[in-house]
Amino acid sequence: MIIIIGAGIAGLSLAWHLIKEGKEVCLIEQDEIGKGASWAATAYLEPRPGVGKMRQLEWQSVNLWPSFADEISQTSQMPIDYRCGSQLKVAFEDTLTRFEKEQTLREQGAEAFKGTYNVDYEVLSPEQAHELEPHLSQNIVKALLLPNIHWLDGRLFCAALGHAVRSQGGIIKENTKAIAIKQHGNKIQSLEIEQNSKSEVLSCEKIILCSGFGTNSIKELPQDIPKSRAIRGVAITYQMDKDTPLTNRLIKHPLGILCPRSDGRLIVGATHEEDEAEPIVKDEAIESLKFSAERTMPVLKFLPIVEVVAGIRASVGDGMLRLGHSREVSGLYYALSQGGAGFLRAAIFGQEFAQFVLGNDEKANHISPFCRR
Ligand SMILES: Cc1cc2nc3c(=O)[nH]c(=O)nc-3n(C[C@H](O)[C@H](O)[C@H](O)COP(=O)(O)OP(=O)(O)OC[C@H]3O[C@@H](n4cnc5c(N)ncnc54)[C@H](O)[C@@H]3O)c2cc1C
Repeated sequence: MIIIIGAGIAGLSLAWHLIKEGKEVCLIEQDEIGKGASWAATAYLEPRPGVGKMRQLEWQSVNLWPSFADEISQTSQMPIDYRCGSQLKVAFEDTLTRFEKEQTLREQGAEAFKGTYNVDYEVLSPEQAHELEPHLSQNIVKALLLPNIHWLDGRLFCAALGHAVRSQGGIIKENTKAIAIKQHGNKIQSLEIEQNSKSEVLSCEKIILCSGFGTNSIKELPQDIPKSRAIRGVAITYQMDKDTPLTNRLIKHPLGILCPRSDGRLIVGATHEEDEAEPIVKDEAIESLKFSAERTMPVLKFLPIVEVVAGIRASVGDGMLRLGHSREVSGLYYALSQGGAGFLRAAIFGQEFAQFVLGNDEKANHISPFCRR
C-alpha cells in the first residue's frame, strides 16, 4: 500500500493518478478533506509571466486542466464550478512600474511559448477596459485582456476529488494525524497514526509527504526532507447578486485579484504575510484587501463581506516546487513547496509525480527539473 499524508489538492491529485495506475492508496488527513491551504485558495490557474522550466510546467498544467476537471466532475458527479473565461489586468498610476515589469516578462513568455500554449493577450485603453467592465475605477491607466483563463472553486474540487478517489477504491482517513514514520534498516516500513487519541501503525511500501506546512511536525523524518516556511494568505469574499453579478471576469491588479464564483461570491485575494505560522486573520489584512478591492471596483463598498479566510502556503527556499525521494530512507517521497500555485500545478503534478513514484521517470518530463532522485 502507498500512504499519502495530506488530503489537500496535492495529495488528492496524486492519489487519483496512482489509483488510475492500479495502486492501493490510503490518504491520511489530520483535518477534513481540503481544509488546509487548499481551503483558502482562490484557485485561478494562471502561470506567472516569464520563461523557464517552471513556467513551462505551469502552462502544461493549464493545458491539462480542462480534461482533468472534466474527468473528476464526471466521476464524482459533483459540482466544481470550473470556468474558462477572460481576465482583465489593470494598473493604477502608482502600480504602473510593476505592471510594466510584468508586461516585459509576459512578452518574453509569449515569444518563447507561442504556438505551444495559449499565451495571447490584447492591450486595451482604459476606455476599452471600462466598456468591458463598467464598474471599474475611473483611475485605471492601463489594461490588458487575457482571453483564455481558467479558474474553479477549489473547495468543491477537493470534495469532488475526494469522492472520486473513494469511488475508485482509495481510502481517505480524515481526522487522523500522521505522527511518525517507521523504518526497517533504511527502508520505509510503516506509519504511526493517531485518531481520537488512539494510536495505530499502518504497514506500507511507500509514504509520500503531501502535508504542506504540517510536514515539519512529523517525527522521525530524515534530515534530507526539506523544511517549509509559512507564508500566510488571507482572502475576503463579497456577496454579489447571483443573477446580476458586477463582473464575470477575473480582474487582476498588481496587488491582488477579484475572482467571481457562479453563486455570486466575489473572492478577493490575497495577502502574503511571513510573520507567524498560524492561519489567523489580522485587521490589517482585511483592511488592505478591502482597500485594493474597492479601489479597483468602488461599488464593492456597498456589498457585504460574507467570509474571511486564512491559509498557510508552505514554501521551501526560493519557493520552487520541491519534489523527490529521500536518499536516506528508501520508499519515502515528498512533494512540498506548492507555495501559491498548488492548484495551478495540480493537473501536471498529479499525473507526472505518480509516474515518478512508480519509477517511470521518462513519463515525468515537466516535473523532472524539480525532482531530486
Ligand atoms: C489565500 C490563498 C490564495 C491562494 N490562491 C491560489 C490560486 O489562486 N491558485 C493556486 O494555484 N494556488 C493558490 N493558493 C495556493 C494553494 O492553496 C496551495 O498551493 C495548495 O493548496 C497547496 O496544496 P497542498 O495539498 O500542498 O497543501 P494543503 O492544502 O495545505 O494540504 C496539506 C494537508 O496536509 C494535512 N496535514 C498536515 N500535516 C499532517 C499530519 N501530520 N497528518 C495528517 N495530515 C496532515 C493538512 O491538514 C492539509 O489538509 C492560495 C493560497 C492561499 C492561502
